[in-house]
Amino acid sequence: MRAHPVRAGVYTITRLVDGIFKAPVSALMHPEGAGRIADLLGESADTIPMPVNGFLLEGPDGLSLVDVGCGTVWGDTYGSLRRALDVQGVEPGDINRIYLTHLHGDHAYGLVDGESAYFPNAEVLVPASELAFYTDAAARAHVPEGRRGAFDVAARLLATPGLRLRTIEPGNVAEELCCLALPGHTPGHSGYRIGAGDWGLLLWGDVVHAEALQPQDPALGFTFDLDPETARESRRKALALAAEEKLVISGGHIDGFRLVMRDGEGYRLVPSSFLA
Ligand SMILES: [Zn+2]
Repeated sequence: MRAHPVRAGVYTITRLVDGIFKAPVSALMHPEGAGRIADLLGESADTIPMPVNGFLLEGPDGLSLVDVGCGTVWGDTYGSLRRALDVQGVEPGDINRIYLTHLHGDHAYGLVDGESAYFPNAEVLVPASELAFYTDAAARAHVPEGRRGAFDVAARLLATPGLRLRTIEPGNVAEELCCLALPGHTPGHSGYRIGAGDWGLLLWGDVVHAEALQPQDPALGFTFDLDPETARESRRKALALAAEEKLVISGGHIDGFRLVMRDGEGYRLVPSSFLA
């Protein structure tokens, strides 16, 4: 089955699902504490399922990806992005460019295939502040041991022959493709704004993990956010931008393409399938 793409400016964008991650509700964090989390959760189960996504972009400079899933590094329950590309008729060698939102394994490990690069012809673009942080030994020493995965990802990417990394700064990085700094989840975490004018789309990375919970109260975070306060600010910024400019959004863990609607003090995400 071919996935249903959306259009944004000069690009056609297809979501590729790599697998489903089940986050324990104990990973939720809120500055007002457990009572507020219980109110938001209601009767829900003890895990929050969320897809792990990458995106295929067909545009003026050929085929690109935004994030690439886990590959084979996180085991058999992930790695479906590769099959999803195959279903689209896309070979690994067809990909010209790969834009990373950040260096967590569920977004970047799909770049490696054992000892080699899975996408042999792709230039991999990574936000400069992200690569700088996760290659800094002093920074690593200051991060709690259980939160150091992205340092290992960066080291693995840099050690993989044929994997061409190039750093980028916020701003335009290709025609109708703009890198937007949304720090907090990780120091260099970024989104990509695609298209122009009334047909904009924002792939916002991991500003939201639980789409049914966090938009209504953007203060709600996950333990995966390295700097929770900055992540909250970026979440509010991304939600406000998408609502004001009527951007279609998706991200690393959103189950489709959405519009962001204001709803009381917060927001709610609604399917944008009528645009497909
Ligand atoms: Zn993620």
